[in-house]
Amino acid sequence: MSELKKIMTLPGDGIGPEVMAQGVALLQALAAPLNMSFEFSEDLAGGACLHEYNVPIRDKTYSRCKNADAVLLGAVGLPEFDDNPTHLRPEKALLGLRAELGVFCNLRPAQLYDILVDASPLKKEFIAGLDLLVVRELCGGLYFGEPSGIVKRESGRFGISTMTYGEQEIRRIAIKAFELAQKRRGKVTSVDKANVLAVSQLWRAVVNETAADFPEVELEHMLIDNCAMQLVRNPKQFDVILTENMFGDILSDEASQLTGSIGMLPSASLGDGTPLYEPVHGSAPDIAGQDKANPIAMMNSVAMMLHYSFEQGQAAAAINQAVENVLQQGFHTGDIQIEGKLVGTGELGERIIEEVLKSL
Ligand code: NAD
Repeated sequence: MSELKKIMTLPGDGIGPEVMAQGVALLQALAAPLNMSFEFSEDLAGGACLHEYNVPIRDKTYSRCKNADAVLLGAVGLPEFDDNPTHLRPEKALLGLRAELGVFCNLRPAQLYDILVDASPLKKEFIAGLDLLVVRELCGGLYFGEPSGIVKRESGRFGISTMTYGEQEIRRIAIKAFELAQKRRGKVTSVDKANVLAVSQLWRAVVNETAADFPEVELEHMLIDNCAMQLVRNPKQFDVILTENMFGDILSDEASQLTGSIGMLPSASLGDGTPLYEPVHGSAPDIAGQDKANPIAMMNSVAMMLHYSFEQGQAAAAINQAVENVLQQGFHTGDIQIEGKLVGTGELGERIIEEVLKSL
């Protein structure tokens, strides 16, 4: 009897549905060779949900996600909602989902495929062999802190956002980063702004306390401004970058561009509840509906699902390898600057699936 896994899919907006179609096709193709069965359920999130129900995500959808074995998300965001109040913006679906699922640990690997070494904005000698992992705290910090909002005072309007972290929140994400570093090259760079922010001073203290339980892992602290600079100066110095929610959001986008395109980067969000897997990129309204989106971030997000949720590390590695093989054959979408044949989302996805199946 094959193992049944329930996957909740939230295609979302823009290029979300296009890349989701490739992710689902990949899982369907892998079911038989892996002796697994996947049961897919789909729901609306983001702008698509605002259109239909006037909310970015429904409570019912949270319940359905909690009852699944894994959630796969495309992307959310539509320019028409840019002026909406925060609670009626598509992106609110993402924040709500992360909080409801309690997925506080966001993993964003940035690995450079050899063939893309010239697609990176950095010179070959600085970038060849890049393999770093951003471990971003996902359920706290500036994106969730209260008070938050725009208030009117006598002298005018004030915008308020609050960065707050409890020591438990810091400790649990720090433990994850140290555990992951143990399985990698054994180095954690904890990124903060401890020279200015009180919250960062606590962050640094708790990370130091946690480090005592991982003596074999090297720990260094780095200020966020320096880290942003070091990522373009000498990115190969990093193994695991541990950081809070907003800093991680920014640094992981920066790291993604080093790998050639934001369309390459997957993510996994793990924690107390159902894990959530999604490409790092957004809904890319500028190319939506044109078969131009790079599906690789989605394919690699499926690989992370197989690895972290379903103990199928070999299949995950096979997907990564298939992506590399197809790129080496020259097939690519427009966001990747390599020689070869420009193809659409659908064709690139199909070629990757064919290549994975050859190796299983
Ligand atoms: P974006 O990631 O959507 O796009 C940035 C640039 O990268 C665009 O030029 C786009 O065409 C390109 N790009 C992104 N993904 C690509 C892919 N797979 N293949 C080829 N090119 C790709 O970021 P943005 O333009 O700042 O935001 C657009 C919308 O997405 C906004 O509403 C934003 O809030 C939302 N957003 C959502 C998420 C998410 O759902 N996780 C993340 C970031 C932004």
